[in-house]
Amino acid sequence: MAEKLFRLEIVTPDKVFYCKDVFMVEYNTTEGEVGVFAGHIPMTQILAPGVLTITEDGGTEKKAALLAGFVEINQEKVTILAESAEWPEEIDIKRAEEARIRAERRIGSGENVDLTRAELALKRALIRESVAKM
Ligand code: ATP
Repeated sequence: MAEKLFRLEIVTPDKVFYCKDVFMVEYNTTEGEVGVFAGHIPMTQILAPGVLTITEDGGTEKKAALLAGFVEINQEKVTILAESAEWPEEIDIKRAEEARIRAERRIGSGENVDLTRAELALKRALIRESVAKM
């Protein structure tokens, strides 16, 4: 039996990052990790920084870093509007490492820093570092 597919479109400010019929997509939202199959009930979600996993027709898995944005699920299609999305090979590991060290230093400095901002920067850096190694 053929797998039930749905159209996944991921758009970033500069391009269409991905657009294909897929079997499943998994990502992180402000409400937690979710996995979406064809026929999911329509809804809108807010992305949280995390790893995007796309299961394509035939079972191939694709991973990417997905940092912030919105998801709209409707009958025919899942649309992800993301501030940034990066495939493993697009990630500059050194830059992510520097961003992590900067954020860790700020968090540990005890000075008057914007902790929420520093923690989000740390999260982005850690996700980029892990996706880059996938
Ligand atoms: P940095 O402090 O290094 O700028 P950041 O987490 O603040 O990191 P973002 O605001 O999330 O950066 O991203 C800004 C832009 O830079 C986006 O287009 C994103 O794809 C790109 N970018 C950020 N870090 C990396 C990286 N390590 N490798 C590749 N592209 C990156």
